[in-house]
Amino acid sequence: MKPTLRLLTLSLLSALAGLAQAQDKVLNLYSARHYQTDEALYTDFTRQTGIKINRIEGKEDELLERIRNEGARSPADVFITVDAARLAIADQAGVFQPMQAKGVEQRIPAHLRTPTWAAFSTRARVIAYNKAAIKPEQVQTYGDLAHPRLKNQVCMRSGAHPYNLSLGAAIIAHEGLPQAEAWARGLVANFARAPKGGDTDQLRAVAAGECGVTITNTYYLARLMRSTKPEDQKVVAALGIVWPNQATWGTHVNVSGAGIVKTAPNAEAARRFLDYLASDRAQIYFADGNNEWPTAKGVKVDNPALKQLGSFKADTLPIGKLAQHTAEAQKVFDRAGWR
Ligand code: FE
Repeated sequence: MKPTLRLLTLSLLSALAGLAQAQDKVLNLYSARHYQTDEALYTDFTRQTGIKINRIEGKEDELLERIRNEGARSPADVFITVDAARLAIADQAGVFQPMQAKGVEQRIPAHLRTPTWAAFSTRARVIAYNKAAIKPEQVQTYGDLAHPRLKNQVCMRSGAHPYNLSLGAAIIAHEGLPQAEAWARGLVANFARAPKGGDTDQLRAVAAGECGVTITNTYYLARLMRSTKPEDQKVVAALGIVWPNQATWGTHVNVSGAGIVKTAPNAEAARRFLDYLASDRAQIYFADGNNEWPTAKGVKVDNPALKQLGSFKADTLPIGKLAQHTAEAQKVFDRAGWR
């Protein structure tokens, strides 16, 4: 072998060795969460394990599309997204592999995980009403919002949004299809205006008296409660909050969750990351950073807004079950004209 060629071979070999090593020390995270506090979480993981995180951020549906388009060559190791409906869609598309993460199995309650993905934080979908226009007795259940006495009082975001699809799925699971259908029709008949905007926009509209009542995820409320802006404080002051369905199946809760991608080049690092997410420290960062509740057993957060919201009876329907009814929920909403 010529000296130059040998040198080349040697450097190629060492480059390859370096690549193999680097592969174990890297985690490619596709995340639909865009919270500042998540940053601290990733730094902490790297400090503990030496595994560097490459983060690819995007909108929920775009990220899933990207993983599917990349196919077998996808660099994605872990996919983090919000809402059981979306996690279920990813799962049905064959994006995940069995998780087999010991820490997750030990720490996350069984109803908050499936064999392929787990929930790492929860949020509740609650009723918010204008205190000057509505009495709390009128809006104690999701069903109440479909009652004719609330004609022209209801503001909602799109029926195609996963937050509402998951709620619809819970109603189908607990009350059956005909009941869910009647509910959706009643709700649409009570709309003060065509659906537009996100949950925060509905809260602002209710506070402004544009409508009397809406349904929102709790962290949007908590965000307004913790805001120091006078206009946000005014919104909070005008609103009353109800935990729906306390006398029946409980308030609908949804999740933020993650799974290991089927083609993950760094599956071992991915497992370590999910175990890390289930740890006390990570649970507090992950959930509290977006004003959510941790899913791991026994983890307590010290969050003034969550404390102020208080405790409630949550729906205990297994999160995997919920996901089974989301396609049906979409059909029900379509038929009801909830665009
Ligand atoms: Fe959200």
